[in-house]
Amino acid sequence: MNFEEIKNDEQSYMMHAYGRFNAALVSGKGAVAVDSEGREYIDFTSGIGVNSLGYCDEGWTRAVAAQAATLQHISNLYYSPVQTELSKKLCRLSGMKKVFLCNSGAEANECAIKIARKYSFDKYGSGRQKIVTLVNSFHGRTVTTLAATGQEVFHNYFFPFTEGFVYAEPNNTESLRACIDDEVCAVFVELVQGEGGVMPLEQSFVDEIASLCKEKDLLLMIDEVQTGISRTGSFFCYQSYGIEPDVITSAKGLGGGLPIGACLCSAKAENVIVPGTHGTTFGGNPISCAAALEVLSRVSEPEFLKEVNEKGEYIKAELKKIGNVKEIRGKGMMIGIVTEKDNAKEMAVKCLENGLLILTAKNLLRLLPPLTITYDEINKGLSILKNTMEA
Ligand SMILES: *Cc1c(COP(=O)(O)O)cnc(C)c1O
Repeated sequence: MNFEEIKNDEQSYMMHAYGRFNAALVSGKGAVAVDSEGREYIDFTSGIGVNSLGYCDEGWTRAVAAQAATLQHISNLYYSPVQTELSKKLCRLSGMKKVFLCNSGAEANECAIKIARKYSFDKYGSGRQKIVTLVNSFHGRTVTTLAATGQEVFHNYFFPFTEGFVYAEPNNTESLRACIDDEVCAVFVELVQGEGGVMPLEQSFVDEIASLCKEKDLLLMIDEVQTGISRTGSFFCYQSYGIEPDVITSAKGLGGGLPIGACLCSAKAENVIVPGTHGTTFGGNPISCAAALEVLSRVSEPEFLKEVNEKGEYIKAELKKIGNVKEIRGKGMMIGIVTEKDNAKEMAVKCLENGLLILTAKNLLRLLPPLTITYDEINKGLSILKNTMEA
């Protein structure tokens, strides 16, 4: 099928949930994607931070194929060695105590929200159910995670939303304090707001959140769906802030391209979820777990993290030399570019025409390249970006 046929069928048979770029991607290798017409693109997106190891990495493909040929799915009524191995590894890498495996970021966040409320209910009884999130945050597309998302544009059409979320201004301690009353049970934040425009939180603000949580016995919950799995240069981003969260959520890069999410909790909350209080049919799917195990075995070593930081710094330094670049934000290989001409969307479309896949977030260009991208691929992508920005 050629592109026009694919596009027509999409229009005819798929709900119009997405504004899509004009390309149908059909194969890929490393940081290079190929479309239906045989055109190649350098990939600075990883499919929104998902393909940590790039397209069709050899080790990853082998791990997935081997598990698919061994056992593709059991129910959560039985034990699974791939689930336990993955959970053990996630605990070791994060210092967390227990893991719940699910299928997406929104689901991991739903689990976190349930843990926060039940932790408080178990300990204090009812009446302590509010969760503080941040203005400009993004936590997912379910009715509850939309409510958790601190952006008015997401609070439309689907009324009534889940109650009990209050929004503090990021990097504003007074606003944070004003949100915390006797009904609050948790604070839930992204350390670098992704969809909100690649906005890192200041260390002093994060320290303030952590100390308020400790003081008032609120769960400190970090949404690491986008920032985690080495994306920001430490295995989880919170590790670079030197805080000790009670709950963290992960998804996107965890499976390297297969759907999997995880909610991790510290000893404080490890007994909150008991049989009957939470579950999911697909959660901890063995093939997704095998994929995630391969990802973790590759991206968690100090040497690899050092490389992620070096590549991130290199990209930022090179971006500074490009015209129409006004400001560069981000951490590790999660990078946002404010353009002089405020034309990020237009630039992203032009980049595609010129052979580069790139993301936007709000009015920024956003880069989430595969963590394994080579310097050669980086340079090719940057040169397309430069030509596009300076045209
Ligand atoms: C993408 C994202 C989500 C939602 O993840 P899904 O897998 O799309 O449900 C939640 N939080 C953050 C920070 C994200 O970037």
